[in-house]
Amino acid sequence: MRKLPTVLLVALLAHPGVSIAQDITPPQADPRIQKLVASISEERLSAMVQTLAGFGTRHTLSDTDSPTRGIGAARQWIFDELTKSSPRLQVTFDTHKLARQGRITRNVDIRNVVALLPGKSLRRIYVTAHYDSVNIGEEGQISANTRAPSNTPRPDPQLRRDQDYNADAPGANDNGSGTALTMELARVFAESGIEFDATLAFVLWAGEEQGLIGARAHAMELFKDKVSVEANFNSDIVGNTRGGDGTTDTESVRVYSEGPEDSMSRSLARYIARAAAVYVPSHKVRLMARQDRFARGSDHTAFTQYGFPAVAFRESKEDFSRQHAAKDTVDGVDVRYLAQNARVNAAAVASLALAPPAPVVTNPRGQMMIGRQPSGYDANLRWNASPGASTYRIYWREAWAPDWQHAQVVGDVTEFVLPKLSIDNFVFGIAAVGPNGHESLISAYVPPPRRDPVVKIR
Ligand SMILES: [Zn+2]
Repeated sequence: MRKLPTVLLVALLAHPGVSIAQDITPPQADPRIQKLVASISEERLSAMVQTLAGFGTRHTLSDTDSPTRGIGAARQWIFDELTKSSPRLQVTFDTHKLARQGRITRNVDIRNVVALLPGKSLRRIYVTAHYDSVNIGEEGQISANTRAPSNTPRPDPQLRRDQDYNADAPGANDNGSGTALTMELARVFAESGIEFDATLAFVLWAGEEQGLIGARAHAMELFKDKVSVEANFNSDIVGNTRGGDGTTDTESVRVYSEGPEDSMSRSLARYIARAAAVYVPSHKVRLMARQDRFARGSDHTAFTQYGFPAVAFRESKEDFSRQHAAKDTVDGVDVRYLAQNARVNAAAVASLALAPPAPVVTNPRGQMMIGRQPSGYDANLRWNASPGASTYRIYWREAWAPDWQHAQVVGDVTEFVLPKLSIDNFVFGIAAVGPNGHESLISAYVPPPRRDPVVKIR
């Protein structure tokens, strides 16, 4: 018999069968995170949404000279508020000198506002929202939704000749809600006194309404500079509870994530639902297995386009008639609901930022480190050690199931065998767990797509 590596033998002896596997148990609540979640202030959120709407418009091409109205005043206020909220935040403008393109109808400098909270490691978690607003006409977004299907493309309302970039676009909900949420999280995280492992980047994007321009310009640089980005929590339109169809929902939020089903974006989405169940059980996370709503988009897509895991938070009930119109006013934002969404974000961001990074399950050639050894019918899993991990937890589920069904803690090893469990019938994943009990995202073992050469025909 071929000699087995010691670590593998120990694993086999300690776990002769899969029957001892625990079912999924929720993570233990960390009192530090409970305190952080409880420190989110409805009053501050409310005041910030009001101030943001009070700039009249935050259109990307609006006035930058007035101290009270337009995007110039708005971005300076965001910068100053973040600077004031904690000395630990490193606040900067991330400026991009845009050439005229698409809905950007003239050369313009756009400014994302970035607040960095340095962690013990350089790996980054992004918490983001766009702060720009738009007014596409009196009817707002509902006009697009109710238009009869037609084969003739309608002209883009943002490219009208007579467009007034300084017209009222209060953007209280789209996206004053997400902007206030992000600014409030920057404050409570920086002031929590917790030393996070991950570096947190709280960013307010410009140019979203013209095609995710600010986020795309930023993500492009992250990619070029090979920055390790673990997650992007993006909130966009997260404060309304009265749907335009007369229904209401104050108790749930939708989280959209791009597939396939074991992408790291999906892993992040599942992680958020799990953290929310522990820290904010009164608020339900509805996971949506798609990039976003139909024909709608947001800045998380700028991240997934460069291969960074990302999700978008969206209120459960939308009022399309208020969006992208002068009617997007503060009375359309339910601050209690917005605060619940902020708490869900905070719980998941804090858990992830305190955990080690997710294990790498591919070798340098990009191949999944999974096999059927030693019997030929076992699940043999290998991974690279994650810095700071004290143990690992293996997850598995039927290959048709959307969420993990079984889990097992396996100790501080980098190889483990689940005997007689078929890697063809189950999906396997692995999470790193730190000494404080916080768990990383789950890295799944996914068969790569086959890339065969084209068949040669004579
Ligand atoms: Zn938006």
